[in-house]
Amino acid sequence: MTVRRIGNATIEKVEELCAAGFRPNRMFPRFDQQAFDAQKHWMVPVHVEPGSDRLVGSVHTWVVKTGRHTILIDTCLGNDKQRHNAAWNNLSLPFLDRLRACGCPPESVDFVMCTHLHVDHVGWNTRLENGRWVPTFPNARYLFAKREYAHWESERARQGEGKVNDGSFDDSVLPVVEAGKAVMIDSDHQPDPMLTIRDYPGHTPGSIAINLENGGKRACFSGDIMHHPIQVYHPDWSSQFCSDQEMSARSRRKLLEDCVESNVLLCPAHFPGENAGYIKPEGNSFRIEWDKQ
Ligand SMILES: [Zn+2]
Repeated sequence: MTVRRIGNATIEKVEELCAAGFRPNRMFPRFDQQAFDAQKHWMVPVHVEPGSDRLVGSVHTWVVKTGRHTILIDTCLGNDKQRHNAAWNNLSLPFLDRLRACGCPPESVDFVMCTHLHVDHVGWNTRLENGRWVPTFPNARYLFAKREYAHWESERARQGEGKVNDGSFDDSVLPVVEAGKAVMIDSDHQPDPMLTIRDYPGHTPGSIAINLENGGKRACFSGDIMHHPIQVYHPDWSSQFCSDQEMSARSRRKLLEDCVESNVLLCPAHFPGENAGYIKPEGNSFRIEWDKQ
C-alpha cells in the first residue's frame, strides 16, 4: 500500500476487506437513478460493481505516524466476532500481519481513535485470548468521543446486553474500558500536536473527523461522514445508516466546504483501494480529484 506524506508525518491505509455491498437505492433514501448514472463512467468498476450497480466499499484502518506517535484511526471488524451480517461474521483475516508489514506491530501503537462506534470501526480494538476479549494494542490509549460513548452506553441500557451495534459495544468497546485503556475525549482534545478533532454529528450522534496537519498540508480522516464518493457529488444523500438524515447531510456539506477551503486530503473510512482525494467546488455541489500516488 502507498505511504502518503503530510509534512513530516506519514499515512498509510491498511485494508481488512473490500467487497461489493448494498445497491445504491437501498443505501441512500434520497437516491436518484439519473444523478447516479451521470457519474457511473468513472465509478465503475472501482467504486461500483459492473452489471449489478452495487456499491464497492472497503473496511480499512488509517495508520498515522507523526514521529512522536503511532495512531490507528478506526479498527475495522476484527477476528472471531459473532455478527448477524454473514460477510462480517467470525472473520479470520491476517489484518495484524498486514499492520506489521507496514512497520506497525501492535505494541507500537500509542493511540487508537474511532471516528464513531459502529461495528466496522471498533473490531480490532480487542482480540480473543483464552475466551476473553482483551485490548489488541497493549500500549495504546483508546480515545473515544465522550458524546459517542455516552450515546451507545445509554442505548445498551435501553436495548440490553449484547444488543448494541450487533454486539460490538460489548466485545470491542466495553473490554477496553474495563481494562482501563479508554480515555473519553471532547473535541478540544489534542493527542499529538499534529492532530485535531472536529465534531460532525449526524451519521451517529458523536461522529468526529480527525485532522492531521503539518508542513502546510492537511489530511482529514472523515469516518462515515461519507460512505461512497457519490456523496461528494450529492452531499444531501445520507445513508440508511445515518441516525439523523438531515443533520448528517449538514455535517457532510460542512466537511466538504472545509476540504475545499483548506485544500484538505480527504481520507474516508470506506473508499476502496488507494483512494483519497481533494474536494473541488462544482456548481452548488462538489467533485473529487483523486490523489495520484
Ligand atoms: Zn463504517
